[in-house]
Amino acid sequence: MTYSAGVGRMLGMPADAVLTSALVLERMHPEDREALEAALERSRREHEPVEFEVRLRRFDGGERVVRGSGDIVNPPDGQPGRMVGALRDVTEEQAARSARDLFSYVVQSSSDAIITVVGDGTITSWNRGAEQLYGYTVEEAIGQPSALSETPERAGEWQQLLQTVFSGQSIENFETERLRKDGSVVAVSLTVSPVRDATGRIVSAAIIARDTTERVRYEERLRHMADHDQLTGLFNRRRFDEQLKRELARASRYAEHGAVLSIDIDSFKGINDSAGHAAGDAVLTHVARVLDERSRTTDIVARLAGDEFAVLLSAVGAREARTVAEHLLAEIRSSPAVYGEEAFRITASVGVATFESDDTSAGEIQVNADLAMHAAKTSGRDRVVVYTPSEARRARAMTKLAWSQRIQDALEHNRFVLHLQPILELASGQITHAELLLRMKGDGGELIAPSVFMPAAERFGLIDAVDRWVVQRAIQLVADVLRPVPRVGINLSGESIVGDPHLLVLIEQQLDRFSVDPARLIFEVTETAAIANMPEATEFARGLTNLGCSLALDDFGTGFGSFYYLKHLPVSYVKLDGEFIQNLPRSEVDEHMVKAIVGVAQALGIKTVAESVADEETIALLHEHQVDYAQGFYVGKPVPLDVALAKTGWLSQFGGPVL
Ligand code: GH3
Ligand code: MG
Repeated sequence: MTYSAGVGRMLGMPADAVLTSALVLERMHPEDREALEAALERSRREHEPVEFEVRLRRFDGGERVVRGSGDIVNPPDGQPGRMVGALRDVTEEQAARSARDLFSYVVQSSSDAIITVVGDGTITSWNRGAEQLYGYTVEEAIGQPSALSETPERAGEWQQLLQTVFSGQSIENFETERLRKDGSVVAVSLTVSPVRDATGRIVSAAIIARDTTERVRYEERLRHMADHDQLTGLFNRRRFDEQLKRELARASRYAEHGAVLSIDIDSFKGINDSAGHAAGDAVLTHVARVLDERSRTTDIVARLAGDEFAVLLSAVGAREARTVAEHLLAEIRSSPAVYGEEAFRITASVGVATFESDDTSAGEIQVNADLAMHAAKTSGRDRVVVYTPSEARRARAMTKLAWSQRIQDALEHNRFVLHLQPILELASGQITHAELLLRMKGDGGELIAPSVFMPAAERFGLIDAVDRWVVQRAIQLVADVLRPVPRVGINLSGESIVGDPHLLVLIEQQLDRFSVDPARLIFEVTETAAIANMPEATEFARGLTNLGCSLALDDFGTGFGSFYYLKHLPVSYVKLDGEFIQNLPRSEVDEHMVKAIVGVAQALGIKTVAESVADEETIALLHEHQVDYAQGFYVGKPVPLDVALAKTGWLSQFGGPVL
């Protein structure tokens, strides 16, 4: 066999080499060589022309794909036949072909719908992704107008998209909806581009559609969660605040007025206690539905917290607001909530605060509505109290006065009392600490928790007096009846450490006066109060340290950046907020939080105390995570001091040496 010089060039043959048949065969891929030899053999035998494609290895290492065709020419004199043919280098051509194959394979197997349409909107190609997304097979789709997947609500949108694309522009990630064959609607993101022929003319549009249903649903859920209450589906406090602010801006622009209703279910705790939390939830959902169904569509209904709801009425005066409030209350009263076999009759106390144009802030209006609601509670529940802005001002002044009087009165007539709660040292299993907790006795002798009167005391500037009373009384007790208790915790309000420069002096005087070892006193302030007033808190903590007392941070872990501040405050104890402890046996997250706090605290030489410890399982976990102390119902409930002292042996539970 002889070859032309072109074959030598194809192979990149060195100038001194001789092109022989053997050399060409040697450079051929072995598989192709065998196939070629078989084909030639057959061609000779059957006198048929032959076609073949072989891979040749070039001298520089590269590979060429060569296509050839040939035929046996039989000379007339009966000599053996000769193969005559031509070879062509098709390497590039083949690469392009396989790229095309690959590309169409990619298009075909893509999970995105990829289709093409021509100028009049007729579908010309339709991949498997399109079959899946729209539900039409390729046979059903090709030749059909592409508007077949247009939802009636978006009629005309598709036409416009195509016009844009055929005028030369591309469209990227256009979020819309399309109709499936089965009539359901799918959320899609469309990317549409013009396809041009060799002369640059736009001949079709290529459309890639991606199913975004999941993403859209997820985004909607997130958005929904951010401003809705999960239990009732009503707006939450955040969204209500936002709506109220918007309404106030609108009201002041148009010199309008409106009202906020604060609705709190009466004696709701009783339902939780007697029928269980799930029954309570059912009642909340029921009340939410009544409020939602019975208010005007323009009113905003929200669940602010617990059993507290709010309704925002726009464009109403005081009289109309009262009518609406009475009407809603009547609806609540007359429709019992059904839970399983039980039906609960419900009443609520409704406070209404009206507002006019721009005279009040959103926060103030809510406080006013709240005051009106509390007035409804104290005057007997199951009723509506309306405050206009001036009435609200008066009520505020009255409340202030009333609280001032109550607190003053409590101070003067010994109506503040201290309760004592034991704290367990986990390592020794001994009760080594106790915390003094402040309570106020109401007019009827009932006990009022600090969460009720402390905000009022803070708001009306009476906190210093309360804290001073606590400090004096506590130190006196520590010196006297609490002598068996090695260490005693005393709560101070955050306000007081900032606002009362004489508090440290008072503590020092009391320590001297009663000859108390300062090391027995641990003053507790909340983490949030300390962080909000870092410079003052630091100074106060230093002052305490100088006196020989220590500082504990209460409710630790609730504020952001708690760790950062630990480094800067001379703190001896952190009390882990009950929130992390209550669910400790059931929550991995809480366990991580506790572990993390303990880790940092240990590194800084700070002792840890777990609050709200309710069972043995929690104690075991606290042990495991090396928390130092435990406090809570499981260890011991707070008891009035006189009760504690009257019980013989109560104080003997305190172990360890008395300091
Ligand atoms: P009052 O008449 O003074 O309003 O008394 P009340 O018993 O209704 O007391 P309050 O409004 O202070 O108590 C609300 C209770 O609601 C406290 C809490 O235990 C309970 N609570 C808060 N959130 C939920 C919840 O999502 N589901 C249930 N079932 N109870 C809740
Ligand atoms: Mg209530």
